[in-house]
Amino acid sequence: MTSTKDDKLLFLPLGGAGEIGMNLNLYGWGQEDNAQWMMVDLGVTFADPGMPAVDIIMPDPAFIEEYRDDLIALVLTHAHEDHLGAVPYLWPRLKCPIYATPFTASVLKRKLREVSWGKDVPIHVIELGGTFSVGPFDLELVSLTHSIPEPNALAITTPYGMVLHTGDWKFDPDPVVGDAADIDRLRELGDAKVLAMVCDSTNVFSPGDSGSEGDLQESLTRIIASCKNRVAVSCFSSNIARLKTVAEAAHNNERDVVISGRSMRNMIEAARETGYIPEDMVFLYEEDAGYLPRDKMLLICTGSQGEPRAALSRIASGDHPRVSLDEGDTVIFSSRVIPGNEVSISQLQNTLSKRGIKIIDWQDDFVHVSGHPARDELTQMYQLVRPQIAIPVHGEARHMIEHAALAHECQVKTTVVPQNGSMISITKTGAEIIDLVPSGRLALEGKRLVPIDGKLIRNRRKALYSGFVVATVVIDGNAELFDEPQITDTGLLDEDEIELENAIIDAIANALENLPKKDRRDDDAITSAIRIAMRRFYKKEFDKKPVTHIHLVRV
Ligand SMILES: [Zn+2]
Ligand SMILES: [Zn+2]
Repeated sequence: MTSTKDDKLLFLPLGGAGEIGMNLNLYGWGQEDNAQWMMVDLGVTFADPGMPAVDIIMPDPAFIEEYRDDLIALVLTHAHEDHLGAVPYLWPRLKCPIYATPFTASVLKRKLREVSWGKDVPIHVIELGGTFSVGPFDLELVSLTHSIPEPNALAITTPYGMVLHTGDWKFDPDPVVGDAADIDRLRELGDAKVLAMVCDSTNVFSPGDSGSEGDLQESLTRIIASCKNRVAVSCFSSNIARLKTVAEAAHNNERDVVISGRSMRNMIEAARETGYIPEDMVFLYEEDAGYLPRDKMLLICTGSQGEPRAALSRIASGDHPRVSLDEGDTVIFSSRVIPGNEVSISQLQNTLSKRGIKIIDWQDDFVHVSGHPARDELTQMYQLVRPQIAIPVHGEARHMIEHAALAHECQVKTTVVPQNGSMISITKTGAEIIDLVPSGRLALEGKRLVPIDGKLIRNRRKALYSGFVVATVVIDGNAELFDEPQITDTGLLDEDEIELENAIIDAIANALENLPKKDRRDDDAITSAIRIAMRRFYKKEFDKKPVTHIHLVRV
């Protein structure tokens, strides 16, 4: 592809704009329908309890799939699920090389072991602070701090100037793992002029700063000292700094640390491989910990968001094969509620409470610091980088709109608030949305990926809320009933509601009788009349609109 003077610098989020989760960003150089593309991050989000049989959701990559030959690379900013979790599902549709730093690459490789094509994925490991080129873009990694090792901002040099894609970040002077953020480099980039900054909006409503990971150790040591019996600490498996902090606090209280949960193990292995957990820091695994006295152990487990399959939920409901908690034990939630998870967390906490297990969370004591920048940190970032254009991402609409207002306060001339699918053209003097391309969500339903607003998921949800009914209607050549219609339903009639069942059967029979002669030859007309009669019945009797199926059989 040759460059022309009409070439545009494009930014297009297909996920993560208008939501916290499933990030997928594209940078393009060329025309909307003929560009070279670089993808930044490819993450998932978790389904809420209102989505039956669906655990995870990811962006629909259809737009970029169409231009797959022009997709030069996927660059991963860090190893959080909302940034790389969709790679094991969507890479076969994209088939581009992946660039990541050592820890992120290590986490990704572990995930890819679980798919047959995992070994085919070309992964280029870039050192921290490293530089590399992707088609028309020259990239430099700038180390920041977050709640996982190796969070990187991408300084992307384009033909129009530099774009700083921050990824997820905070300014933590004592991050426990890794170095503090490279503030000097950010200032240097600012001095050299940054055209646009695409930046994390998660905590724009939090005043002050996010607090330091390093400050937690004292308070966790004190809290654990006050606990009798077993203590379980639930946090994100990828928060290696938190794991270290909790382990230190446990050791200060002469407790051994026991790890539960597969994702926690994988993360610890990745962290050991890349040198983020010291050799002499010992973790026991749940199968080796049965002999430990209750007051000499501390369990670190996944499931702080109430995820039903994670260790903590299974321990709480008593169906974990190796770990149990009893009355008088304590669970510390070393995390915050991610928006959308409120219901599952409170269900989990109620289950624990009913069993006499004490709960300590962020509202009770200092047990957590966020990995995202609060207002003062955002302001400091704008003062360092001084971009001409601000494009907030990684937030719900209200976060991004507030972030844009904050950027204005920080003297940023142009702000653009995108939604998923917003094609933004960035020029030397400004930026604007020039198109809205298709975007959507795919749900992992069993082993398949299906569109979340498609028929399958719609009917599944409808059946959950409104029930499901099948009518089998056998008619003869004159469209008279050959036999009494049969009704089979799920979630509508109770066992003893025979009268209601008979009433539905009567309604079906009446619908058929009332059908004009000419319509009786037409199966569609018959089915449609029966369906209308059934719907009317369920609406009138139950105020429900169940999923309705009719089997029409002619004999
Ligand atoms: Zn994120
Ligand atoms: Zn993150």
